[in-house]
Amino acid sequence: MTAVEVAGGVSVTTSATDTTTSTIIVRGSEALLVDPAWVPTELEALADLLDARSLTVSAGFSTHAHHDHLLWHPRFGAAPRWASRRTAELAVSERAALLEHMGPGWPADLLALFAQVDVVDGGVLPDPWGEAELVVHDGHAPGHSALWLPKRGVLLAGDMLSDVELPLPFWPDDLPAYIAALDALAPYVARAEVLVPGHGHPTRDPVARLDADRRYLADVLTRGDSDDARIGNPYMAENHAHLQRLVRGER
Ligand SMILES: [Zn+2]
Repeated sequence: MTAVEVAGGVSVTTSATDTTTSTIIVRGSEALLVDPAWVPTELEALADLLDARSLTVSAGFSTHAHHDHLLWHPRFGAAPRWASRRTAELAVSERAALLEHMGPGWPADLLALFAQVDVVDGGVLPDPWGEAELVVHDGHAPGHSALWLPKRGVLLAGDMLSDVELPLPFWPDDLPAYIAALDALAPYVARAEVLVPGHGHPTRDPVARLDADRRYLADVLTRGDSDDARIGNPYMAENHAHLQRLVRGER
């Protein structure tokens, strides 16, 4: 597993599954792990990578309550793992459904650590990670939270603003919340030098990602279709059709 440094002290690894990213933020000899993902061998490789750099995980963060963003590994240690209030609530109330999404064959020690997140009180992570601000909204998932690192100019967008996935305002179907979420993210996108999506590739042109998502949604809302190239990516044709039905009022 290779980590790509996208900004000072911010490295990203990419899973072979769904181009899922994991982000490591370094401060001295400590690391903040965001959405470590996602199969057991990759989590193990992430632990190897941290060992090789002599980094101790002092906190974790989950951007939202979907199965591929709530993972952990025993070798990351017993650091606190944080999430927005709604995400932490859903991690408990939806645990059975989330585990079902994980699929079979997971080691018991990883399942025991799955979705064990605590609520962040306030708009920033506890010390020593107070530099990380939460940007909480209900686009993609209720209580979804981006992390904004103003000193580093990096926005960790979670499952928003991807170059491989379309906007996914589903479960619950809530397009107005998604559009409001893009508006909430806009000022951070405007200031960010680097944006890291939960699935896809980091970019140094965050505004282009926001523009693409707004254009796609506007196309579907105004003419019922879009020529967005992401529709051709895995699973995206059915998600596009889902949004078209939603906009037509068939759901
Ligand atoms: Zn998600």
